Amino acid sequence: HDADGRQHTIDRPLADHREGLVAMAEAFAATTPIDPSALRAVGHRVVHGGDRFAHPAIIDDEVLAAIRDCIPLAPLHNPANLMGIEVAMQIYPDCPHVAVFDTAFHQSMPAESFRYALDRDVADEHRIRRYGFHGTSHAYVSARATQFLGIPVAGSRIITLHLGNGASACAVRDGRSADTSMGLTPLAGLVMGTRTGDIDPGVLLHLLRAGMSVADLDRLLNKRSGMKGLAGYNDLRQINARAAAGEVAAREALQVYVHAIRHYLGAYLVELGGADAIVFTAGVGENDAQVREWTCAGLTGLGIRIDPDRNAAARGPSDVVDISAPDSAIRVLVVPTNEELLIARDTY
Ligand code: AMP
Repeated sequence: HDADGRQHTIDRPLADHREGLVAMAEAFAATTPIDPSALRAVGHRVVHGGDRFAHPAIIDDEVLAAIRDCIPLAPLHNPANLMGIEVAMQIYPDCPHVAVFDTAFHQSMPAESFRYALDRDVADEHRIRRYGFHGTSHAYVSARATQFLGIPVAGSRIITLHLGNGASACAVRDGRSADTSMGLTPLAGLVMGTRTGDIDPGVLLHLLRAGMSVADLDRLLNKRSGMKGLAGYNDLRQINARAAAGEVAAREALQVYVHAIRHYLGAYLVELGGADAIVFTAGVGENDAQVREWTCAGLTGLGIRIDPDRNAAARGPSDVVDISAPDSAIRVLVVPTNEELLIARDTY
């Protein structure tokens, strides 16, 4: 916690999110004494809001029930989010608490983007459709991009690439999500730190028939795949070092990673009929000049050209950096994401 120009660190084992949040609140109280009446609200990031929430919601019993109702859609995340809300409401009982949903921004997707070509009755019964995630990040960086470019939101077309440990792409039209790469779950789309991204769904059937249990499959797809599965590490810094040292698996993993990004970039360029800007954000997008360079390589014919020097210089910038060449019809931007700020604004 940064307060008064100093950094306060707690370094001890924490059993669960409850203990973590209590420790955090104690640290806030000790380092940044807040007059309880000055605290206006608490904003909570909630991963899955299903199709119930297109906007933030002040948390009451009904909203809590709706978040609980979405547990089958996000069995790992929503219970932790609920625990956080419960503990925070005990610690800060006198102010409103607001849920800001990772899925909300994508509720604007049209049916052709969110519907899977699956038996309609099965899909409806199990609430199977594309929901999309990282909504606060895509919303924040796309808005920041139009602001930076000085173009009106109406009519704007931005392709946002959130490349972190989790990764997703989003086609943003008129400031609203028109399509995104994650689906019912955050497994779909781009290659991630430990998640597969898109694979043939037949692979799951094949492995089930080969004797793998559902729990094994879950672990395989979520924890043992992606860059970790391909190259042994989920952190691109380590993979870059291995690739530079000539390791073939690391090099190939990076090529697979970039291939998936380009696949969605191409899809969204067609879907939007062009773009005003392509935005790179999150851990990899904000820091890894090589991934950005490879993603945009050979696309001059599509109006995309980056400036190698500007690109190389943009590493962990504190604000927007335009890395495109002056003659690039589509601007290529590095925009540091700030999900906490957007959650705070939404809460306000
Ligand atoms: P995030 O989920 O947005 O915090 O991103 C975390 C990921 O960003 C890490 O696992 C790394 O793969 C990647 N990352 C962070 N810093 C760098 C860097 N300097 N160069 C390349 N990748 C980085």
